Amino acid sequence: MGWLIARLLAALLAVGVAAGLGAVFGGLLDAAAAGTVLGALAAVAALVLVDGGRAGKLMQWLRDPRAAAAPHTAGLWGELAYGIARGLRRDQALLDAERERLRQFLSAIEASPNGVLLLDGDEQITWVNSVAALHFALDPQRDRGQRVTNLVRAPAFVQYLQAGHYAEPVVFSGPQGRSTLSVLVRPYGEGMKLVLSQDITERERADAMRRDFVANVSHEIRTPLTVLAGFLETMSQLPLTEVERRRVLTLMEQQTTRMQQLVADLLTLAQLEGSPVPPTDRWHDVAALLGRAHADAVALSAGRHTLHLDAGGGGEIAGSESELLSAVANLLSNAVRYTPEGGRIELRWRRRADGGADIEVGDTGVGIPREHLPRLTERFYRVDGSRSRDTGGTGLGLSIVKHIVQRHGGTIEIASEPGKGSTFRLVLPALRVQHAAAAVAA
Ligand code: ADP
Repeated sequence: MGWLIARLLAALLAVGVAAGLGAVFGGLLDAAAAGTVLGALAAVAALVLVDGGRAGKLMQWLRDPRAAAAPHTAGLWGELAYGIARGLRRDQALLDAERERLRQFLSAIEASPNGVLLLDGDEQITWVNSVAALHFALDPQRDRGQRVTNLVRAPAFVQYLQAGHYAEPVVFSGPQGRSTLSVLVRPYGEGMKLVLSQDITERERADAMRRDFVANVSHEIRTPLTVLAGFLETMSQLPLTEVERRRVLTLMEQQTTRMQQLVADLLTLAQLEGSPVPPTDRWHDVAALLGRAHADAVALSAGRHTLHLDAGGGGEIAGSESELLSAVANLLSNAVRYTPEGGRIELRWRRRADGGADIEVGDTGVGIPREHLPRLTERFYRVDGSRSRDTGGTGLGLSIVKHIVQRHGGTIEIASEPGKGSTFRLVLPALRVQHAAAAVAA
C-alpha cells in the first residue's frame, strides 16, 4: 500500500508545485507561458494518478492470482500482468501434470497384487496400498503417520526390520494367524523403506500337499518293493519246494499288480490335471455307458453280489466317455470290494428337477463312519487301509472320481451308514445332460 500512497503524494506534490510555480512565474512570465507550464505539470500529475490506479489493480490481483483473471490494463502494467498470468498458467500446467503422474503411479502400485508399504526414516507409515492394508490389517487413512511396529507386532517382522539385513524376505503368520506372509524390505532415499508383502498361504499349502503326496507315493511304492526284495532274497538263498515257489511267485505277482495299479492311477490323475475341460458338445448314450460299466462290475464280482442296473428314462451325457466310464467303474469297483458276499449293488440314472442328472451307485456293504465322509475323496485317504490294499485299492479311486465329475461341472455326494451300506452320487449339471423325450414327458 505504501507504494500507492507515495505515488499519490507525488501526484499531489506535482499539482502543488504546479500551483506554486504558476503563482511565482505568473508575475514574471506572460500568462500564456505560465499556462503551458501549469498544463504540463497537471498532465504529469494525471498520468501518475492513472498509473497508480493500474498498479493498484495489479497488486490487488497478485494477492490471489488464481481467484480471478489478470486485470486488463493497457501499458506496462498490463504487459506485466499478462506475463505473470502466463507464467502462472505454465506453472499450474506443470503442477497438474506432476499430480497426474503421481496419481497414475500410486494407482499402479495400488493395482499391484503385492502389498506395498512406504515408511519414513522413523519407520512411520507414509503410504499403504489396499493389499498391504489387508495383509497387515491396517487402515490406509487412519494409520498413516503411525509407527509400523506399533501396528504390526509379529516378532519375526519387528526383528527383521530392526536387524537391517534385507537380502532375504522374512516369512511369518499374518493377523490372527490366518495367513502366511512373505515380506521383503528395500531401503531407499534417506532412511526410507519400501516394504513389499505377499500372501503365500496358498503356495505353502500347495507345497505341503506336494510333500505329502510324494511321501505317500514313496510309501505306497516302497511297501510292495520291500516285499518283492524279500521274496527275491528268499528264492535266491533258500531251496524252496515247488509248492512254496508257486506261493511266493503268486505273492510277488500280487505286489507287482499293486504297483502297476498305483502307477496307472497316478498317470490318470496327472492326465486329468493336465488336460482341457471335456467337450460340452460330444454326447454319449447313458444306457450304453452304464451298461458297459455294469458288465465290468458283474465280471469283477464273479457272482458274489447281485448287481442291478436302472438306466431310468435314458438320455445322453456330454463330456469325455472314457473319463465318465472310469468314474462309474471306480465307484462300482469300490462297491464290489467293500460289500460282503451276497450283498446288493445298484447302478441308477436319475433325472433331476433342475434338468441335470444323478448317477448313483448304492451298495449294502460295510458302510463308512460319518467322521470319515468329508475326507474320503482326498488322495490316499482310506478308512480301512488293510482292506483297501488287500482288495487291490490304491487310495486314489475316489479322488479320481471327484476330479472327473468336477471337470464335467458336477459334484460328488456320499451318504453311508456303517454296517448298512453306502451311496455315491455323481450330480451332473443340466448343461451336460439331455434326457430322452419320454423321460421328460413322464
Ligand atoms: P481305495 O483304493 O482304498 O478303495 P478310494 O479312494 O476308492 O480308495 O476309496 C477311499 C476309501 O473310501 C476306501 O479306502 C474305503 O475305506 C472307502 N470306501 C470307498 N468306497 C466304499 C464303499 N462303497 N463302501 C465302503 N467304503 C468305501
